[in-house]
Amino acid sequence: MFCSIDGTGMEDSHLTGGVSDEGRLIADTLLVRQYLDRAVRPDAPDARERAKYRDAIKDLLERRNAAIVAHYYVDADLQELAEETGGFVGDSLEMARFGRDCDADMLIVAGVRFMGETAKILSPGKTVLMPTLEATCSLDLACPADEFSRFCDAHPDHTVVVYANTSAAVKARADWVVTSSIAVDLVDHLAAGGEKILWAPDRHLGAYIERVTGAEMLLWDAACIVHEEFKARGLQDLVQVYPEAAVLAHPESPVGVLELADFVGSTTQIIRAARELPNRQFIVATDQGIFHKLQKETSGKEFIVAPTAGNGAECRSCASCPWMGLNSLQDLHDTLNHGDNEVHVDIELARQAMIPLRRMLEFAVDFRS
Ligand code: SF4
Repeated sequence: MFCSIDGTGMEDSHLTGGVSDEGRLIADTLLVRQYLDRAVRPDAPDARERAKYRDAIKDLLERRNAAIVAHYYVDADLQELAEETGGFVGDSLEMARFGRDCDADMLIVAGVRFMGETAKILSPGKTVLMPTLEATCSLDLACPADEFSRFCDAHPDHTVVVYANTSAAVKARADWVVTSSIAVDLVDHLAAGGEKILWAPDRHLGAYIERVTGAEMLLWDAACIVHEEFKARGLQDLVQVYPEAAVLAHPESPVGVLELADFVGSTTQIIRAARELPNRQFIVATDQGIFHKLQKETSGKEFIVAPTAGNGAECRSCASCPWMGLNSLQDLHDTLNHGDNEVHVDIELARQAMIPLRRMLEFAVDFRS
């Protein structure tokens, strides 16, 4: 566990300051390893098995009036299947919106746990299943609700803004929930009204928002284990090798990486930038799962993964989220077939979490209209 003291004198393990980046990375990695050692990673099926599962899933989706809602980071087979069957592939804001608005009776959320919880909160009348309930997120794990609640209590003059990558209990304690696609716009809006912001959990995204908006922000101290591994020094070297390439980075990446980026944005914004920018080559600092959509949406463009600290098959976090990787065709099939892995959220918690989630969705609509 981390150990630092915030301005109130309250000892807390996830507040910024007092611990080196290296120390935090080691602690984060340990936490993840412990968790993943308990999770069973799926074996990749061969082509014949994949075809069998795809056919069976299509049939089950129709019989159950179900839709697959998938994130860009999950396996390409799941993304393809979602789109072929009238489901959806997108970032977490778009997934939440699609799940709420579609007329399916059942949602199969291929992503990580907070996405399943959000779908259930926004669509209480729908059955929400996930291929695996083991898929979580280092940001969610590093922001326990009781510890976070004490942090909020210690700073009652701050508006609490939390990233979507949090548990329902943390969302229930927040004034606002945001995704990376609207975080800058929302904090800019709040800061213009003179509000001081308490932000959790991703410290890199929080620091990025602070720099871009100039808002006064208190930051929780957690990081995404995938994006934290992107290295500025390696990126500098890679830019020398591909001088014509534009660098596209997700704002959960460390500041040194963001400073080298030509474009910083959410997954959907990165895909749009790759489509619209004139460059033919791109170095991409986000999960490799996005490459499937990038290649599909652009023609003849080349995408190169940004360098990370780890390499080789043993690296569980180098540009590939280990939890997103737990979603498999077989598990999705079995879940649909047996109705397993249903997501439940306590009714009172869901009622409280719905308030900042609804604000987020309304802000996103107002801001874009
Ligand atoms: S990529 Fe990072 S932020 Fe996204 S689910 Fe995985 S650990 Fe969480």
